[in-house]
Amino acid sequence: MTQSPALVWFREDLRLSDNPALTGALDHGPSLCLYIFDTSPERRALGGAARWWLSRSLMALSTAIAARGGELLVMRGDPAEILPRLVRDAGIGLVAWNRRYEASAIALDKALKAELVASGVVVESFNAALLNEPWQVKSKAGGPMQVFTPYWRAARERGTPRPPLPAPEGIRQAKLPATLRSMTLSIEELGLEPRKPDWAGGLRASWMPGEDGAQARLADFLDDGLAGYRTERDRPDRPGTSRLSPHLRFGEIGPRQIWHTVQMALETGETRGSPADAEKFLSELGWREFSYHLLFHNPELATRNFNRRFDGFGWEQDAAGLAAWQRGLTGYPIVDAGMRELWETGWMHNRVRMVTASFLIKHLLTDWRAGEAWFWDTLVDADPANNAASWQWVAGSGADAAPYFRIFNPVTQGEKFDPDGAYVRRFVPELTKLDAKFIHKPWTAPQTVLREAGISLGEDYPRPIVDLDFGRRRALAALAELRAETGSESA
Ligand SMILES: Cc1cc2nc3c(=O)[nH]c(=O)nc-3n(C[C@H](O)[C@H](O)[C@H](O)COP(=O)(O)OP(=O)(O)OC[C@H]3O[C@@H](n4cnc5c(N)ncnc54)[C@H](O)[C@@H]3O)c2cc1C
Repeated sequence: MTQSPALVWFREDLRLSDNPALTGALDHGPSLCLYIFDTSPERRALGGAARWWLSRSLMALSTAIAARGGELLVMRGDPAEILPRLVRDAGIGLVAWNRRYEASAIALDKALKAELVASGVVVESFNAALLNEPWQVKSKAGGPMQVFTPYWRAARERGTPRPPLPAPEGIRQAKLPATLRSMTLSIEELGLEPRKPDWAGGLRASWMPGEDGAQARLADFLDDGLAGYRTERDRPDRPGTSRLSPHLRFGEIGPRQIWHTVQMALETGETRGSPADAEKFLSELGWREFSYHLLFHNPELATRNFNRRFDGFGWEQDAAGLAAWQRGLTGYPIVDAGMRELWETGWMHNRVRMVTASFLIKHLLTDWRAGEAWFWDTLVDADPANNAASWQWVAGSGADAAPYFRIFNPVTQGEKFDPDGAYVRRFVPELTKLDAKFIHKPWTAPQTVLREAGISLGEDYPRPIVDLDFGRRRALAALAELRAETGSESA
């Protein structure tokens, strides 16, 4: 026990329940609750959609802390400067945080810990974000793993995740010296939400950031979504997935909480979902774990090909193609619906993420990093591990990736997973009146059909910006060239 106050530094764990750093700090006595909006150049700046989410999430956290008698202190700047000063001036005896896994964050945390410990402060760090720490799951030889199935098997063999912690009933607030008060600002003063123009209307209509929103989303999913998840999860026209990803991204809910809530719902019959549906759903959390495992062992996952043989790949510089893709004007309805869903709501269905990513990388032969960057800026769930690992997965340059030569056909994908075109109609209103037979390939519709649907191709809706067969053959030729250059079949 320490007599001096404790400090809990919130980062990507914006919740009160199952927050071991918060519990740890409060166990030591009166505490300060701190969030620092990190502006140091070492950290990858958040994209616009994620900044909006963060703003709302901080407001929810601040309200929840206040309701328990505490106060969320908000500061902006470089934590390497702010934290030691705050600790010194407030006479903090213990600092607690939950771990992060990006290389720049690990380096910062390590340096801070060394500095604080050297000045006699106790530093405690915890795992709040993952079922298993990235270093805890190992291959038989004791090293990192590169293939999902054995990874997940090994992770499961480590046993049931420990039960989540309850939220503290009260927060005993330590006193903040007046001299430090001037370092704090309001969440609004962080300026995270767009103003001119305010493009966040679709985000506000789609989401409720914060811990309560996360819990409500999980409860709804168990009520309604888990039953049939195994097949429904591939249907963008139906609400077949949990949409928990942004809540997980900002740590408003943790995977242990999801795990135990799902198990409990199965045991008590509170969900119509089957054990097989639950197993599939939990394995998706496994993919998230696997991404973090990859990121931890490959710090440059967002910027360098995991498979270095791709370093010599012959990408095209197609600025017009990239712009059409970003704006949802490629002429391929499933691709355009996905890109517009992303722009409007800050989220895109997983199946459509795969199709849009494949289209950019393969049919437009554009470097996956351009797509990763766009998603980073526009997704509310933009995640340093999941986004990078998934883009590399689609590109074929990643660990346990889809081979490069597997190229999604946006027409057949649309017909299979959005058979009536309901998803396309929702996000591409120009095509609303088009018969389902042509909804995924409007350029094949007879003029009379197009006219009746009120569409003039090239005016109301674009003609395809690339021929699918041409794009496919060009991509395969680029792969063949790479293989010839590297003398390898594994590219
Ligand atoms: C090109 C591309 C980029 C992606 N970028 C991101 C990203 O930035 N952030 C992100 O969270 N996910 C990303 N994903 C993975 C996946 O699309 C989303 O996690 C999923 O669509 C989120 O919806 P959900 O919460 O309804 O998922 P559910 O199906 O309900 O799954 C539950 C949770 O499991 C995790 N999960 C599900 N699928 C995956 C997956 N394929 N890989 C890793 N974790 C998964 C997510 O945390 C998700 O919230 C990306 C996928 C692709 C193909």
